[in-house]
Amino acid sequence: MLSQAVGDNGWVTTAAGAPSVPATNAGAVPASAALFTRAKAVSPGGVNSPVRAFRAVGGTPRFMRAASGAYLTDADGNTYVDMVGSWGPMLLGHAHPAVVAAVREAAGRGTSFGTPSEPEVALAEEIVGRTPVELVRMVSSGTEATMSAIRLARGCTGRDLVVKFAGCYHGHVDSLLADAGSGLVTFAVPGTPGVPAASAAQTLVLPYNDPDAVDAAFAEHGDSIACVITEAAAGNMGAVPPEPGFNAHLAKTCQDNGAVFVSDEVMTGFRVSRCGQWGLDGAREGWRPDLMTFGKVMGGGFPAAAFGGRADLMSQLAPDGPVYQAGTLSGNPVATTAGLTTLRLATPEVYAALDATADAVQQLARQALQAAGVPHVVQSAGNMFSIFFGRTEPVRNFVDAQAQDPSCYRAFFHAMLAAGVYLPPSSYESWFVSYAHDDRALGIIAEALPVAAAAAAAASRQGHTHG
Ligand SMILES: *Cc1c(COP(=O)(O)O)cnc(C)c1O
Repeated sequence: MLSQAVGDNGWVTTAAGAPSVPATNAGAVPASAALFTRAKAVSPGGVNSPVRAFRAVGGTPRFMRAASGAYLTDADGNTYVDMVGSWGPMLLGHAHPAVVAAVREAAGRGTSFGTPSEPEVALAEEIVGRTPVELVRMVSSGTEATMSAIRLARGCTGRDLVVKFAGCYHGHVDSLLADAGSGLVTFAVPGTPGVPAASAAQTLVLPYNDPDAVDAAFAEHGDSIACVITEAAAGNMGAVPPEPGFNAHLAKTCQDNGAVFVSDEVMTGFRVSRCGQWGLDGAREGWRPDLMTFGKVMGGGFPAAAFGGRADLMSQLAPDGPVYQAGTLSGNPVATTAGLTTLRLATPEVYAALDATADAVQQLARQALQAAGVPHVVQSAGNMFSIFFGRTEPVRNFVDAQAQDPSCYRAFFHAMLAAGVYLPPSSYESWFVSYAHDDRALGIIAEALPVAAAAAAAASRQGHTHG
């Protein structure tokens, strides 16, 4: 029998040093195919969130049955290095022993009280300790967080207009679906049916990283703009970082015009640094958002999200103020325990390791694609990153992001999948690493990349032949 020990990153390792997971073996997927057939009979598209359906890349979505550390195991028993991390939340890796133990214990004490409880207070304290927000309100999804932040901004200013940026996704809030990235662009849905024209008309969509466009919008509509909302660093059109000074410009412009600056850190919060994207720019440059939204990592894999900010604004929420907002499962004791345990384990060493792992994967990808002669840009926003195929200039905004070659990504994605690496099933998504991505996981990625790069090269040549 192999002796077991808990490794530096909290994972049980065998005597040989490898995580206790099955060997990589990406083969046939009859069980996933059968589940997909059953799912399509009872759910639209067979999924509960559109990008999961693999429409952008084709093929059968993998139905996962288990996950541990850096690895996912599908219904057929194939194991993959996971580069999606549940779209960001799994900062420490899947089923981290300490998180699972804390969740089990919390669930044993009761799964929902409908009253205040200690874990939600402790999680709020952790968030207030890491970010510039003074007061925080818990909700259950990032969508709810941005929706509520916008209602609060409108309630506080008595204005209706919302400024957002093309390619930024803030959840499926009516007024925020205009020109959103992520799933919407994956399916080429420009806005979406079902959003009232009156609601869409209250949204001004501007190009990302364009301070002049912001100035022009405020020159024309300044006294009707309730808020500017932006992804703190864009991750939903692929990874597109804010240019130096862009977020600071938004903060100042809002301040000068009596508008509320909402920084959406649902993806970046507690992910790109201990203090999120704000830790990489605002904290250094000396500005703070009026409101912030959080989700993903702060839920530790459970439905927990939050919005928070200046005390004078947050005090306008019921029961202190007139802006109504509520939730049956808000601050749920199991979800907040998972989030709190995750954040307490997310130390500076964890962030340093994530940055190093993200750099290593990007370096490997660049080398493989260069060697195969595939035109591409590997781009990062903190430790989130993605590859834009078919262009060589940096991607600054949504127009740039759309000038990529989706057929290349499709070929690349499937070659990686076959070699045991699970990438986001759309090129308009960021890749995420976790603290559990160790040398073994990097080794699997390094082996897969040259094969996938060759597949991308073939797709690229074919694209050119077909003109
Ligand atoms: C994921 C995401 C959301 C929406 O969060 P959900 O929990 O999926 O509703 C909002 N904003 C950003 C920046 C996101 O990445």
